[in-house]
Amino acid sequence: MREVVIAANWKMHTTPADAGELARTIASRTREAGVTRVICPPFVCLGAVRDALADADPDVGVGAQNVHHELAGAFTGEIAAPMLVGLVTWAIVGHSERRRDAGETDALVARKVSRALDAGLRPIVCVGERLEDREAGRANDVVDHQVRGSLEGVEPVVARDAGLVIAYEPVWAIGTGRNASGLDAAAMTDAIRASLEGAGWGAVATETPVLYGGSVTSANIAEFLAEPSIDGALVGGASLKPDEMAGIVGRAGITARARGLAG
Ligand code: PEP
Repeated sequence: MREVVIAANWKMHTTPADAGELARTIASRTREAGVTRVICPPFVCLGAVRDALADADPDVGVGAQNVHHELAGAFTGEIAAPMLVGLVTWAIVGHSERRRDAGETDALVARKVSRALDAGLRPIVCVGERLEDREAGRANDVVDHQVRGSLEGVEPVVARDAGLVIAYEPVWAIGTGRNASGLDAAAMTDAIRASLEGAGWGAVATETPVLYGGSVTSANIAEFLAEPSIDGALVGGASLKPDEMAGIVGRAGITARARGLAG
């Protein structure tokens, strides 16, 4: 049975002075058997969040929002995956905001995924179509291309054993308040697993957790988790609000129990 994961992407919010307290509050309000929780704060807050959670609730994972595609070198301002060992156990890779703002291509994302895996981190690999792709009926093709390209060279069994997760995040739904419907999101998570099968992932395709991301809140999370093919959520804006996280993870706990994960 696939894991149920709720991952918080704090993006460029919080400071080292306040991130630990926020993480502690969220951790204390989201204890739900069978739900894997992850908090991904900005790089400069990783130490504070790690220390706060080690104290408050070591079951909450800490993740980076990005890793560099090289191991080391003259890359001013960048962070390589091996530098994160001891600070995080997860890493978001290929978020659409980085694809848009940092020009990350599928090929680059694939290199980042491999770096994360080599460093022993669990990648959350993000894919998702833009509005014009959806409106033109290209959503499946675009996401199929992203999945194959972003995982090029990744060994399926290595990915599975490392706990790789995919997040389907339609670009038009991120930070807009306009979420996909549960049915549409489920159709895309099915399509993602079909892409993995097409790429030769075999049984690992069905074993890989696929999350939905895009304006998830405590009010709409149920719609996604009611879909058997959706295994959780990558949450942006709402993840900075303890009340929202309590509602989202609480609903995920119901799914975890229904799927026999809470025992
Ligand atoms: C995200 O940052 O991945 C995201 C889905 O953001 P939001 O929940 O704010 O749409």
